[in-house]
Amino acid sequence: MSMSTPPMVARGGGWLVESTGPASVLTPEKLSDEHRMIGRTAEQFLRNEVLPNLERLEEKDWTLARQLLRRAAELDLIGVDAPETYGGVQMDKTATILLNERMAASASFAATFGADSNLSVLPLLLFGTDEQKRKYLPRLIAGQIVGAYALSESGAGSDALGVKARATRQADGSFVLNGEKMWITNGGFADVFIVFAKVDGQHFTAFIVERAFPGVSTGNEEHKMGLLGSSTTPLVLQDANVPAENVLGEVGKGHKVAFNVLNFGRYKLGATCSGGAKNAIGEAAKYAATRKQFGQPIANFGAIKFKLGEMTLREYAVESLVYRTAGLIDAMLADHDPNDAQAVLAAVEEFAVEASIAKVAGSETLSYVLDENVQIHGGNGYVKDYPAERHYRDARVNRIFEGTNEINRLLIPGMLIRRALKGELPLIPAAKKLMDELMSPTAAMPAAGAGLLDEERRAVASLKKVALMILGTAMQRYGEKLTDEQEVLTVAADIIIDVFSAESALLRALDAKERALANADLQLDAARAIVSEASGRIELEARRGLAAMAEGDMLRTQLAALRRLLKLTPVNTVAIRRRLADESVSRSGYIFA
Ligand SMILES: Cc1cc2nc3c(=O)[nH]c(=O)nc-3n(C[C@H](O)[C@H](O)[C@H](O)COP(=O)(O)OP(=O)(O)OC[C@H]3O[C@@H](n4cnc5c(N)ncnc54)[C@H](O)[C@@H]3O)c2cc1C
Repeated sequence: MSMSTPPMVARGGGWLVESTGPASVLTPEKLSDEHRMIGRTAEQFLRNEVLPNLERLEEKDWTLARQLLRRAAELDLIGVDAPETYGGVQMDKTATILLNERMAASASFAATFGADSNLSVLPLLLFGTDEQKRKYLPRLIAGQIVGAYALSESGAGSDALGVKARATRQADGSFVLNGEKMWITNGGFADVFIVFAKVDGQHFTAFIVERAFPGVSTGNEEHKMGLLGSSTTPLVLQDANVPAENVLGEVGKGHKVAFNVLNFGRYKLGATCSGGAKNAIGEAAKYAATRKQFGQPIANFGAIKFKLGEMTLREYAVESLVYRTAGLIDAMLADHDPNDAQAVLAAVEEFAVEASIAKVAGSETLSYVLDENVQIHGGNGYVKDYPAERHYRDARVNRIFEGTNEINRLLIPGMLIRRALKGELPLIPAAKKLMDELMSPTAAMPAAGAGLLDEERRAVASLKKVALMILGTAMQRYGEKLTDEQEVLTVAADIIIDVFSAESALLRALDAKERALANADLQLDAARAIVSEASGRIELEARRGLAAMAEGDMLRTQLAALRRLLKLTPVNTVAIRRRLADESVSRSGYIFA
């Protein structure tokens, strides 16, 4: 199925050195009817079939989990990335965002669904031979069998390439696998596992391993903080026999499978987190409207309005950047055959920085929103009678899996710098030109014009310059040793995340205004507040980063340059939050999209 995509082809990270027009950015307001249809189907499935069964899932009724996957398959939800040849419905990446957003209604089922439809279908689809695809994909996509992804081990989580699982090649070309995988989602009932092991202890390789193979077993369920309705177990490989034809991809190239699947997983997880935040804003707004203290609804209190407003602002930014990222990937794929695995891999890899941003910003916004949701519920937030408590526990893991947020933060500037050094992104000349300009005390920043949100547009352009200043200074100061400077890299990542968030929100709001959407003024307000708050955070981060890298006259000159860049008149974000909060309460939910 082909769906509309915005008419632009940009490069990953290109937005940092170029300016982007609102019309070219995908926003939730530009979704097609087909997109909305998949969103509705998933929403109804969750509401009618999953949510009424949460208790049974939390009691580890894996027969039910399998039945629900089967139902998801009947509704064409498992094969959204796969072509019809294998029983899929091949939609664009934007459609997968809607689907993953809606899955958030149950975090446990979202994990079950994600390990199956994302982490198992995708590696087979992108790296499998025709024979492997024909053998496994139709049954996975029909929900007849269930998949799982087994990369982590007790000693190898973030350091995924450090796995100890070993594959020994036999005389007949088959392999014997030994080792133990940890924290495997769907472990308790999956039929097929994508397993990573080192051939002869050296060559990191992916294998397709069936539960029915001799020597394959799974351990007991982990006792987790949350996601109690999803299965998480070890996978034990004890002289497990795996046929030669079950190598996935090439021997020694398992990293390609592992890392590419993570790139997909990250922007999809960003979408799931975004969906979870929207739902929680609805819960918080409804509770605040009905809970009375001191003779009035708590929604009347400024402290509660601030929270509801802040939740809405953060979610608006995340939602904007998640859709923008999907639009960028779809635009790059627009001229390709969707069955061309190489093109799909290249497009998703191109936007790996944006995928990491979606994962970090999405999971941290969700954590914030769910924490405040508990707070708005007071004592009721702390007991199981209300869903706020479950959501809070369920969400914590989002900052841990699909690459911890620390690892993703290190990847963001790391990937940008690597692309710059390869000449794929004009970051180095842009940073150099900027540094020359900024070192001149007379350099003036462009004056604000009279256009719509002109000051915010100028501010975002300046925030990009701050990001370049930090990256440029770090590269100059540390050269190849920059990888050892994690604190500086983390500062750079936080600034880059804030810039992408703020720009995505601003472009979406400007587009809403250009298209005269009914809620355009609210969107403009949200964008104004987001840019203003991002400027404050970025200033703080940049000062911390510069102070770590320079001292004396050099530091003073850089701080003066920073001050010139960050001359934004503060806006009344308190009033904006009040307005957003009041709208959320009167509409009983998240007000955008
Ligand atoms: C509920 C659940 C489901 C999961 N599902 C799956 C699954 O289906 N398949 C699968 O393969 N795995 C799965 N995992 C495992 C998950 O991917 C890992 O837990 C995760 O990658 C982190 O690895 P770790 O737990 O070993 O933490 P560690 O890597 O030990 O990290 C501990 C801390 O150190 C930090 N750290 C580590 N290295 C660095 C570094 N170089 N620089 C700076 N900081 C660093 C981390 O950010 C973290 O804060 C799941 C985990 C959970 C909890």
